[in-house]
Amino acid sequence: MDNELLAETAAATTDKKCAQPVYRALYDGQCEICQACVSWLKTLDREHKTICLPISEAALSACDSRLRMDDCLRQLHVVAPEGEIYAGWDAVTCLARLFPLTRLIGVMGEWFPFRQLGRICYGFVAANRYSLSKCRGGTCRVAKPETVRRQAKLSAFWSCYLLGFFIRLPLVLWSGLSGAAQRVSIFFRAYHRRLDLLDGKLTIFFLNGVLPNTVPLLFGELFTAVVYDGVAVDPGSPKMRRSLTAHLQRAKPRIAKVVATHAHEEHVGNLNWLSERTGAPVWVSAMTAEFLTPFKKLPWVRAVIIGQPPNLKPPYHILGETVDTASGYLQVLATPGHCDDHIVLYDPKEKLLLAGDAFMGSYFATPNPDVDSLKWLASLERLMELDIEILVEGHGHIHTLRADIPNFPGVVIRQDPKVAISQKLEYLRWLREQIEAGFQERLPVRVIEASCFPWGRRTSWESCATDECIRLLSLGHFSRTELVRSFVRTGTELLPTVYEVRISGRDELRP
Ligand SMILES: [Zn+2]
Repeated sequence: MDNELLAETAAATTDKKCAQPVYRALYDGQCEICQACVSWLKTLDREHKTICLPISEAALSACDSRLRMDDCLRQLHVVAPEGEIYAGWDAVTCLARLFPLTRLIGVMGEWFPFRQLGRICYGFVAANRYSLSKCRGGTCRVAKPETVRRQAKLSAFWSCYLLGFFIRLPLVLWSGLSGAAQRVSIFFRAYHRRLDLLDGKLTIFFLNGVLPNTVPLLFGELFTAVVYDGVAVDPGSPKMRRSLTAHLQRAKPRIAKVVATHAHEEHVGNLNWLSERTGAPVWVSAMTAEFLTPFKKLPWVRAVIIGQPPNLKPPYHILGETVDTASGYLQVLATPGHCDDHIVLYDPKEKLLLAGDAFMGSYFATPNPDVDSLKWLASLERLMELDIEILVEGHGHIHTLRADIPNFPGVVIRQDPKVAISQKLEYLRWLREQIEAGFQERLPVRVIEASCFPWGRRTSWESCATDECIRLLSLGHFSRTELVRSFVRTGTELLPTVYEVRISGRDELRP
């Protein structure tokens, strides 16, 4: 069973009283139409008035002893807080009355002739839902891939997947739009801003630039330079130099070292430049130095938007196990995964982790072509051994529960960093399982990709519009397909992107 479903079932079954003021909706977790309706319900239900439970013997007996498995499988059942049971169309109107957007439907659905009409329509869909969603549970799990493949060349799988998609299409578009509005609001709040934290020990400079600004607006990744206790980390790309200059003139931070976490263009474009400006030497890992001399030619989209970084010029120093700061030291930990040369910096005294791009949110579905998710998993497992109270990401987010870090909506996320990392670990492990099973069953990559984004998982449709925009705008360099490929990397050689494969006519994703 899906983790989200498991958690919900557990929450419901452990709560033996079943008497809190919530409506319990029992739905068929194997039916694509039922699952899609649950997505709608969860979106409408902002105040958590309902709990959706996939039907199981345990869920039914924990919820109400009057519920019968056969009845529940035939139509939707809702148990009201007062104990009343509604079924079929009456359950639909009961739920509809709970939310302002659908209240009118709920009230009118009780009246003649709408009630009678509603019951007929509901009965028709309920009786025929399996012929509409052809493979039971297919989109959530390819339970019997051999059968599915033999029967209809996966057409049952795709018709089920598309049905789930089209029922949720308004939700997909709405999430895409509200996500975009949120990104715009965070972008303007952080525009040319500076955050001074921990009595000035930690400063975050938000970097802007005409073309680089498209990235936070479209994808939500803010650009930053971090100065921690005299160490400048990842000072941006050449196209963000004006913004960085303005910050340096205003804040006049003390900088004794310039460090890069990894050789991606938005992190390493100003290493020598900042070093010359401040007299602070550059420190990078041996592998990052190798990647920067010379820096590979970027794909044109990234070169135009972020800027091609110059090659790293000597003199520079190679990072050891620690790097001294003004008042202490930072541990340097290799964390390959996001890319092979990635390192993070950890202050054990402050319990602070400068994570660079080694975290990037618990749910991140459009990786770059040099991500190796298996290595990333191992790196995150190592980070779980650290005691972390403040996690500073390379793209502006700070995860912490500490009260001495003030609120900054969209940037400071009130979440225990270890919980955030463990959620990401759990997600990556689940993906690994899906992908390994898919390849073992010799399913086409497109099907494996779809099975990694089942519509039953909220993140799949919520980020669908954004993920597909990213795929389109980056010409396939950052995409959900890359996520699948990132689990089957062999060796250090980069795989071609899907677009390159199409153009050159090679029809394989595995070397
Ligand atoms: Zn990166």
